[in-house]
Amino acid sequence: MKAVVKHAMAIGLAALSAGLMALSPAGAEEDSKPTPEQIEEARIFVVNNAIFTLFHEAGHMLISEFGLPVLGREEDAVDALSSILLLEGDSEELDVAIQDAADAWFLSDEAKDRDLTDTDFLDTHALDRQRAYQIVCMMTGADPEFFKQFADSIDFPQSRREECAFEYERTKNSWFGLLEPHYVGDGPGSNMTVSYEPTGDENMDFFAGVLKEAGVLESIAQSVGAKYKFDDGIKLTAKSCGVPNAFWDPQAREITYCYELAVEHIVLIDGYFKREQTAKN
Ligand SMILES: [Zn+2]
Repeated sequence: MKAVVKHAMAIGLAALSAGLMALSPAGAEEDSKPTPEQIEEARIFVVNNAIFTLFHEAGHMLISEFGLPVLGREEDAVDALSSILLLEGDSEELDVAIQDAADAWFLSDEAKDRDLTDTDFLDTHALDRQRAYQIVCMMTGADPEFFKQFADSIDFPQSRREECAFEYERTKNSWFGLLEPHYVGDGPGSNMTVSYEPTGDENMDFFAGVLKEAGVLESIAQSVGAKYKFDDGIKLTAKSCGVPNAFWDPQAREITYCYELAVEHIVLIDGYFKREQTAKN
């Protein structure tokens, strides 16, 4: 892991010094440097995955704050909620965001480059590739026409698409049914405290700046905080934690997004660009 973070740090530093013109590590071969389009794609990929992750954590927060029942694995339930909130958000950006989230789990699966072990199967989360396919299931379930191209690109079977239409409706209705008593619509909802903590490390602060500029924490405050009646005092924090993670802490009543996760997503898409380049050559 350390090597990966170090590599990505170099990416961040280069991006900082060259005004987002070079996500490649210092000293990279000229032809392996990403294009401006790739740099922009990488920035959006990081932001979109932060949004998916934060909606996922917001799901844990809703369950814990409102004492909602969870029939089955909570991690699956909140991945579904995150997908539903993005898909029901009625915005083109969110429709792109969910595709980036699915891609990130596919890339994460590919990047493992090892056989799965019991540790993978024992995990509280489903396997990366399962999480990816389940997000695609929600996508085609919500709007089979809009996401047809994406689903076709990964050979998502027609029979599964038909099941997913039903799964999506049922999951959406279950979630919104449970949340209904707490929904305040146009408010007044709850105020949440948003903070992007500086890290004291200029490389890591680069990622902090990208997320702050995109307002990823504010998107949770507006889409969830303002629409549901929580007791005041919930905190939404982005900071450096030393590990690529994000979590809801029910005691502290705080969602934390670790900048290291942004680094991890940069590494994933950087690897994808490099493989694409190699395939072309
Ligand atoms: Zn989770």
